[in-house]
Amino acid sequence: MKNKLRKVVVTGGAGFLGSHLCERLLREGDSVVCVDNFSTGNPDNVAHLLTNDRFRLLKWDICDGIDIEGPVDAIVHLASPASPMNYLRLPVETLRVGSAGTLAVLKLARNTNARIVYASSSEVYGDPLAHPQDEKYWGNVNPLGPRSVYDESKRFGEAAVAAYRREHGVDTCIVRLFNTYGPRMQPDDGRMVPNFVLQALAGKPLTIYGSGRQTRSLCYVSDTVAALLRALRSDHPGPLNLGNPTELTVLRVAELIRDLAGSSSELAFLPAMEDDPRLRRPDISLAREVLGWEPEVGLREGLTEVIASFRDPRAARIDTPRV
Ligand code: NAD
Ligand code: UDP
Repeated sequence: MKNKLRKVVVTGGAGFLGSHLCERLLREGDSVVCVDNFSTGNPDNVAHLLTNDRFRLLKWDICDGIDIEGPVDAIVHLASPASPMNYLRLPVETLRVGSAGTLAVLKLARNTNARIVYASSSEVYGDPLAHPQDEKYWGNVNPLGPRSVYDESKRFGEAAVAAYRREHGVDTCIVRLFNTYGPRMQPDDGRMVPNFVLQALAGKPLTIYGSGRQTRSLCYVSDTVAALLRALRSDHPGPLNLGNPTELTVLRVAELIRDLAGSSSELAFLPAMEDDPRLRRPDISLAREVLGWEPEVGLREGLTEVIASFRDPRAARIDTPRV
């Protein structure tokens, strides 16, 4: 394990996950170059880090190529639209970031001899026929459906990372992130957790797409960030599933958020999203074994933090208690 990294480039660092990761790296004594074009992220997410002289923020589109002055020890490549609403709104852009953007970041890793951790997604498993999903499963993706722009861009990204490792000997690691939630999720990006929290707090109906019997396994952001750091400091190539295996139906998540928010909102059942995965739960045996990592934050505890941060959004911008 490498304990200290002098300079870490975080692409997509002004997004939800990226901003928490930048914070954590700085706290551990590393220097961070955050590269983001703010397409789905927000400079406010990292505004509180700008006074730290080990932090640099570059507004840049990685699809235009990327070059960083001086040595780079490691790269965490997070840049990509991530929520279904965003990638359905930006279909071609999502394919471009996953392909041209990822190739550009891999080139930077090769030129600087840096280790690169690539944030892939549970979406590479599509609507999985295996349950829970382990890393050996190849997935069930509709290559033409609306979600394919994201799923295939992540699958292309994995192929590109594997090719750079094979052909150029780049030190790579693929991590497949499962649903992560926490303070600083964009309130308007359409994901289940921010939607239900905002609806519950406003006393509006919680919008359930389909029957609500589809499942997700939600991991709190500090647990995901801890796993990303362990992956960065290890020498494992992945792919590694990173997520919390506690699986709930969407309906149950809605009821839990409503209860924790002390809300009496009704539930509104709307048409299902096309190709919405019916079941999702990570098998994290490999990450447990090779990273010695285990999620620690329970769902009630994590959702309580999110509800508090959405009640007072300034809190999420300034500090994240658990990261
Ligand atoms: P996010 O949208 O909050 O962050 C993504 C960031 O990337 C944004 O700040 C955005 O502005 C930036 N970006 C997008 N295109 C860019 C470009 N061309 N050049 C530079 N920056 C660009 O999303 P997030 O939830 O923080 O997700 C981060 C990464 O983790 C994504 O790659 C996503 O696919 C992956 N992931 C996230 C989850 C999750 O539950 N949050 C699950 C699986 C995978
Ligand atoms: N969902 C829902 N209501 C909403 C938002 C999402 O029922 O207002 C469902 C969505 O159809 C999916 C699950 O919640 O089954 C998780 O959606 P999210 O967008 O958070 O993430 P995904 O796992 O689909 O990328």
